[in-house]
Formats: sequence, C-alpha cells, structure tokens
Amino acid sequence: MRLKDKVALITGASSGIGKETALLFAKEGASLVLTDIDTDGGQATLKEILDQGGKASFFKADVSKAAECEAMVTFTEQTYGALHIIFNNAGIMHSDDGDAIGTEEEIFDLTYAINVKGVFFGCKYGIPALRRAGGGSIINTASFVAILGAATPQLAYTASKGAVLSMTRELAVIHARENIRVNALCPGPLRTELLMKFLNTEEKKQRRLVHVPMGRFGEAREMAQAALFLASDESSYTTGTEFMVDGGITAAYVTPE
Ligand code: NAD
Repeated sequence: MRLKDKVALITGASSGIGKETALLFAKEGASLVLTDIDTDGGQATLKEILDQGGKASFFKADVSKAAECEAMVTFTEQTYGALHIIFNNAGIMHSDDGDAIGTEEEIFDLTYAINVKGVFFGCKYGIPALRRAGGGSIINTASFVAILGAATPQLAYTASKGAVLSMTRELAVIHARENIRVNALCPGPLRTELLMKFLNTEEKKQRRLVHVPMGRFGEAREMAQAALFLASDESSYTTGTEFMVDGGITAAYVTPE
C-alpha cells in the first residue's frame, strides 16, 4: 500500500476530485479526514470509504474561514495522532464569473476567499502539523488555466488559480529543507459537476474540447491517481512543480483533426 501509516486531510472531499482522491487514498492505506461545507456529500464519501474497509472521519469546514481551517487540523491530529498529507483541493467556479467588465466585485472576492485564501489557511495551519510529524506532502489544486488564457471568460477563477500556482512554488522553496514538499496539481478540463455546470451547452463543451489533443474531458479518478503520486514517497524528489494532468492541452498549438 502506497500510503500505509500516513494521515491525510482532504478539502472538498464531498464531490469530484476530492471524493475520488479520498476513495483512492483510503484504499492505499491512509487514515483520512474529509472536509467540505457539504455535509451530506461528505457523509456519502465517508460511508463508501468505511464500507470498503478504510479509515476516515468527516469534519465540516469552510476553507475560507481561518478558525474552521485551524479546527480541521486540530481535529486531524487529535483523531489520528499526526498529519502527513494535505490536499488543498476545495474550489469554486462561479457561474457569474466572466470578463473584467461583467464580473461583480463580490464574485471576485468570493472566488478568492475560497480558492486562494482556502489554500493559504490550509498551509498556515497545516504546515506546523507537518513539522510536528517530521515532514510531509502538500498538494494544492490549481488548474491548467493558471498558465493558459481562455476566450470563455472566468477571470476571477483564472486569477485565483494563478495565485495558487505561485503560492505553491514559494511554499515549496521555503519549506524544502524541512522535508515538506509542496506541489500544484493542474487538472485539465474534467467531466465533473463543476465544469459541466459552467460549460452548460453542448456547443460550449465542444468549443472547449477542440483544444484538448486527447479529444475528451478528463475524469476525477485520473486526478486522484496524480494526487496519489504527489502524496506518496514515490515523489520524494518532486517539489514546487506545476503537475499538469490535462490531456495535453497545455502542450498543444494545433490539435489533431
Ligand atoms: P466539485 O464541485 O465536484 O468539488 C468541489 C468541492 O469543494 C465540493 O464538494 C464543494 O462542496 C467543496 N467546496 C466548495 N466551497 C467550499 C468551501 N468554502 N469550503 C470547503 N469546501 C468547499 O469540483 P471538482 O472539479 O472536484 O474541483 C476540485 C478542484 O479542482 C477545485 O479547486 C477546482 O477549481 C479544480 N479544478 C477543476 C477542474 C474541472 O474541470 N472540474 C479543472 C481544473 C481544476
């Protein structure tokens, strides 16, 4: 088992990437704390893990709230005795997020509060716990849009993911000699609720797929496999990366017919 004796905290574990990663980490032997604002979804993930013989707990936390992030880390250490892996994965893509002219300030602030401050709080309260455990791995979910611009505007989201990527790099450098690795997972467009709600017509979906060399959306479980590599000791010399798992989208200039 690739995560035997490890304790992992996953934010946004009720759905999509976070849920698939939780199921996979549990199979690989990790003890898990699942957090989300969606309690029903979190309980459903928890039940699946317990049914398959895994070890996990659900702790409700809003990643945009400092006190709740501090509490989720405290809960993890109190429940499982340590924390080795933090997957700062919770994020939103708001349906009212558009271009600079059309995007309201509140939408920009909300997106930043969850997508950027959420990662900051996960690190702020999580890193001292990783130090106490003698080191560990942090994975921050960014996106391919952190490095590519799209004509389908989602300015607040795109800017927030750029911030996650640069924050990840600096954290990786600061903590490199403490046996703490920090990497960004950059998913391409996925067939998850988050993106399908945003690309809500067949035309919008096809418009996006034109740019993906593989010609299909990715699956949340394919992100979970990448997160597993970054979480495990197999990636022991990997830190500060923008780990692209994107069907080739960031490599493409012209895609196949
Ligand atoms: P999802 O909507 O299925 O899952 C996101 C989860 O985060 C949900 O369970 C939601 O309840 C939770 N969440 C939202 N706000 C929260 C908050 N304030 N506190 C705690 N939890 C909160 O979406 P997903 O596709 O699994 O997204 C996971 C991450 O991947 C996000 O950071 C997203 O930006 C990123 N991402 C997704 C795609 C894609 O195509 N789906 C592509 C690139 C990056």
